Amino acid sequence: MDQEKEYRFFRLYEQLASLTQIVNQKPEIPKIEAIMNEISVMLRLAKGVTHFYKNPGDEQRGIGETMCSYDIGAENIKPVHTVRFVTNLMSISTMTIYMTEDEEPLTDEELFKADLAMRTTLAFISRNRLQIIAEELAFFDDMGFRNIRSFFKFLAWNSKPGDFNGMAAIQYNLRHFALVNEEHGRAGGDMVLKNHYQHIETVIGKGGMVSRLGGDTFVCVCKQNDLPELLDYLNDAAVLANPNGKTANISACAGVFQIPDGYTVSVPNDIMGKIMQSYQIAKVGAQGNIVFYSDMMLSDKERAGKIQKMLPEALQNGEFHVFYQPKVNIITGELCGAEALCRWFHDGKIVPPIEFIPVLEETSDICRLDFHMLEQVCKHIRKWLDAGKKPGRISVNLSRRHMTNAQLVDIIIEIIDRYDVPHKYIEIELTETTTDVEFKDLKRVVEDLQEHGICTSVDDFGIGYSSLNLIRVVPWDVLKVDRIFVPMDNESRESARSVMFKYVIAMAKELGLECIIEGVETKAQLKMLRELGCEAVQGYLFDKPLPLDEFEKRLDMQKYDVVFD
Ligand code: C2E
Ligand code: CA
Ligand code: CA
Repeated sequence: MDQEKEYRFFRLYEQLASLTQIVNQKPEIPKIEAIMNEISVMLRLAKGVTHFYKNPGDEQRGIGETMCSYDIGAENIKPVHTVRFVTNLMSISTMTIYMTEDEEPLTDEELFKADLAMRTTLAFISRNRLQIIAEELAFFDDMGFRNIRSFFKFLAWNSKPGDFNGMAAIQYNLRHFALVNEEHGRAGGDMVLKNHYQHIETVIGKGGMVSRLGGDTFVCVCKQNDLPELLDYLNDAAVLANPNGKTANISACAGVFQIPDGYTVSVPNDIMGKIMQSYQIAKVGAQGNIVFYSDMMLSDKERAGKIQKMLPEALQNGEFHVFYQPKVNIITGELCGAEALCRWFHDGKIVPPIEFIPVLEETSDICRLDFHMLEQVCKHIRKWLDAGKKPGRISVNLSRRHMTNAQLVDIIIEIIDRYDVPHKYIEIELTETTTDVEFKDLKRVVEDLQEHGICTSVDDFGIGYSSLNLIRVVPWDVLKVDRIFVPMDNESRESARSVMFKYVIAMAKELGLECIIEGVETKAQLKMLRELGCEAVQGYLFDKPLPLDEFEKRLDMQKYDVVFD
C-alpha cells in the first residue's frame, strides 16, 4: 500500500517538474487542475482555491481574482494550509487547501508534500499570468484599442509573399475631432471614438485589423472588397455621442495603399511608409480627403534605385562615418560603452540613417555597409586601446538581412581579429525576427557569437516583432528597451506604458538580462529609471550620437553628472 502511495507521489513530482519546463506556453489550466485533483485525492482534500491580487493593499481589502482548482462540494470544510507568493512587482497570489472537518489531519510528511506541490503550481501560474498581462499591455492602449505594436505584429505575422493579396492598408485621421470634444465633452468624445472603432471593426471583419496610432489617428488593413464601404464611412458618418441618441458628424482624411498581389512586407515600413506618404498629402487636402498611394510608387522606386547605385562609390570614398552615442551607467555616472551609428556625408550634407538604411535593406547592400561599420569600429577601438583609453563595450547594428549568410559569424570574427580587438569590447545589436526560419537562423547566430565571447543585444525591444518567447529562447545578453516604452514626464504611474515598462524591467531582471533604456531625454525619466533599478541608459539627456573626436573627449572625461535634485 505504502509503495503504491510513494509511486503516486513520484508521478506527481514528475508532473510538477514538467510544469516548470513549459514556461513558454500559456498556462495549461487543465493540467494544473489535473495536478490539484491528484493532490486532493491523495491527501483527502475537499477544495483548493487560488487568489490573485495586484498589490498588498488589494490583498488586505480582499479585491482580486479567484480561481477554484477543484471542489468536491462538501459543506463542513476548514482551511488546512495556505501558501503565499509575492512577485517582485509586489503582485500577490495565494493558494489555500481545505479539508472536511471530520477528516483526519494531514501528517507532517503529507503537509510537506502538499506545500511543495502548491508552491510549484502557484509559481508557475503567477509567472504565466505576468507574461499574459505584459502581452495584453503591450498590444492594447488605455482605451482598449489595439495599438501600433499590435499593428506591427499583424504585419509581422503576414510576411510571406502573397499574404496581403487583395488587401489594402489605410492611415487616417478624424478631422476636427477637437470640435467633437468641445461640443460633446470628453466622455462624449471617448464614446464617439469607441463607436467609430467598433464600426470599423465590423466593416473590416476578421481578416483585417484596425489600430490606433494615438489620439484620433488610426491605421487599418482590410480586404479591397470592403474598401468602398470603409471609405464611405470615413468620408462622412454620424456616430453616436451619448446614450440619448445624440450623434457627432465624423469625416476623415486618409491615405490608402492598395497592396499589389505578391507584395512582401518584410519590415513594417514597407506598408507604413506608403500609407504615411499618401496620408500626408490627404491631410493637406489639395487632392481630396482620400489619397491612393499608387500614383507615387514610381518616384519612391527611383529614389531607392539612385541610392543603391551610389553605394559602392560612397563606400570607396569613405563617405560613411561612425558616430558614437555614449551609454551611461546612471548609478556611477561612468561611460560604460557606446552604440556605433552610421552617418553618410554626401554633397556637403549629413544624410540621416532613416533616409538610406531602409533602402539599402531592400537588397543585401546593407550587409556591405554593416561590415564597413564594424571594421571602422574595430580600427577605432584598437587605436583607443593603444592609447590606454577604456572604451567600454561598443555595439554595432547588424541588419536582419545578414541572418541567411552562413558565414556571418566567421566574417565578424575575422574582422575583429584582424584588428586584434579583444572580443569583450564588441556587442552586436540585432532586431527580432518574425518567421520560424529566420528565428532558427537568429538563434544560431546569437549562440555562435556567444561561443566566441561576443555579446548580443535585442534592439528596439517593444516595437515591431517583440515576442516574449524569443526573449526566453535565445541566449541574449542585453535587452535594449525602445524609447516608445519609456514613460513621458508627468505620465501617471498607472498608465499602460508605465505599468508595462515596469513589467519589462522586472522581466529582464528575472531572465538575467542586462537592460539598457534608449531615448532617455529628461531628468524626470532618469529619476524614474533609478527608482525602478535600471542601470544603463542611452539618450539625448547625456549625449546625441557624436563624431569620433567628440566621443574621444568623452572617453577622457571622468564621469557624467547623474546627480539631480
Ligand atoms: P537604433 O538602432 O534604434 O538607434 C537609436 C536611434 O535613436 C539613433 O537614431 C539615435 O540617434 C536615436 N536616439 C538616441 N537617443 C535618443 C533620444 O534621447 N531621443 C530621440 N528622439 N532619439 C534618440 P539614428 O542614428 O538616426 O539611427 C536610426 C536607425 O538607423 C537606428 O536605430 C538603426 O536601426 C539604423 N542604423 C543606424 N546605423 C546603422 C548601421 O550601421 N547599420 C544598420 N543596419 N542600421 C543602422
Ligand atoms: Ca541599435
Ligand atoms: Ca534601438
